[in-house]
Amino acid sequence: MFCATDGDVSEAISAARRFGLAAVARSGGHCFAGTSSTAGMVIDVTPMRSVEVAGGVATIGAGARLGAVYEALDEEGLTIPAGCGPDVGIAGLTLGGGLGILGRRYGLTCDGLLAARVVLADGRVIECDGDHASDLFWALRGAGTGTFGVVTSLSFRAVTAPAAAAFHLAWPYDHAGRVVRAWQEWAPTAPDELAASLLITAKGTGAPVVNVFGAWHGGEGDAQELLGALVTAAGTDPMSVSIQAMTYRQAKCYLAELGDQMAGTGERGEEGHSFGKSEFFCGPLPDDAVTGLVAGLGRDRPAGQARELDFTPWDGAYNRVAAGATAFPHRDALFLLKQSVTVSPGAPAGEVAAARGWLDGSWAAVHPWGSGGVYPNFPDPDLEDPGRAYYLGNYDRLREVKARYDPGGFFRDLGR
Ligand SMILES: Cc1cc2nc3c(=O)[nH]c(=O)nc-3n(C[C@H](O)[C@H](O)[C@H](O)COP(=O)(O)OP(=O)(O)OC[C@H]3O[C@@H](n4cnc5c(N)ncnc54)[C@H](O)[C@@H]3O)c2cc1C
Repeated sequence: MFCATDGDVSEAISAARRFGLAAVARSGGHCFAGTSSTAGMVIDVTPMRSVEVAGGVATIGAGARLGAVYEALDEEGLTIPAGCGPDVGIAGLTLGGGLGILGRRYGLTCDGLLAARVVLADGRVIECDGDHASDLFWALRGAGTGTFGVVTSLSFRAVTAPAAAAFHLAWPYDHAGRVVRAWQEWAPTAPDELAASLLITAKGTGAPVVNVFGAWHGGEGDAQELLGALVTAAGTDPMSVSIQAMTYRQAKCYLAELGDQMAGTGERGEEGHSFGKSEFFCGPLPDDAVTGLVAGLGRDRPAGQARELDFTPWDGAYNRVAAGATAFPHRDALFLLKQSVTVSPGAPAGEVAAARGWLDGSWAAVHPWGSGGVYPNFPDPDLEDPGRAYYLGNYDRLREVKARYDPGGFFRDLGR
């Protein structure tokens, strides 16, 4: 049911209850694990997508998509720290954390959240912030994806949209080990204004490619110097280099397009079905683990199977928030590694099983060095103890908040 007001959401919840249907909230519909889909009632907040700015606060309808949010804020010279995919929903992204190119400088999207409006399972509408229903406000910031109620509005502290230098460097596969070793010492400890991801892609019949890409929030000259330090540390020249000064808005568009090109899929992944696993790492991977990880990416890969190792730098402002200050607990990591595999639509069961076998093996190969923590916005339906993996030491407190605001368990269980 498409909902344009809080009242519509209350009615949808009441109808689902009356007919004994399961109900899930949907904003952008981009959940990797399909948790915004159900055979019961989908409460779709897409019609609530206004973006209003006053006094440095952006109040955004829960159905807004990131591209539209950036576009509206850019007219005021403002932005919020959040992800790149223009079709991703502001609600799902924020309620599960929200990483992006301003994250090392300003923190997660949920760290900039000032207030939210939520429709609870009993139909009540609650405004929550640091002073009102503060337990719910705490829980929403990292564990709010569909578990406590349907969020209809989110208010954020807006920040000035900075000038940017967007960059993309690429190396051949046989230099992957050197680049990974250098990147993991360099990217997480660089100035907070640098967001440099490392993505190794293996697709089609070609050899895998090693990409370092992202943005520096400052001048092109400084970006060149910083990236030069990575190249020196890796001891290998890239086969291609692009560093371009642009506005922040242009940088977001450039990176969204680049992301699609590198993955070889459209933003909705029409060209295949993907499986992914992620984990945070609090220290660099040892040399042998790096060697094994990058060798495994290319080993015995059928041409129809695409594989990715996607490293996101952490630390900076992400880690300047205490682990218990919000529900999002991953505040001591150096980087996040997401591994994924994609098979063609309609691939036979054997191909799917082989792809998932690669993913499980590659994840297990580096898991001994991982924190055990998993990013809630990259959900993994196969986790043995998802609540602990997503919420670590905050899990027990979250269960108490869940019991307080959704005592009948009408909405999705934590971590499921
Ligand atoms: C192409 C692509 C790019 C991405 N880029 C980034 C990135 O740069 N940074 C990052 O951090 N993540 C990124 N992600 C992951 C993204 O944050 C998650 O997939 C997120 O859950 C998507 O939110 P959504 O609103 O689009 O999805 P949905 O599927 O609508 O929702 C996701 C979850 O949130 C719940 N939910 C949705 N709306 C509400 C609501 N109003 N109230 C309560 N619960 C709600 C749903 O029930 C579901 O459990 C990306 C994903 C994709 C597919």
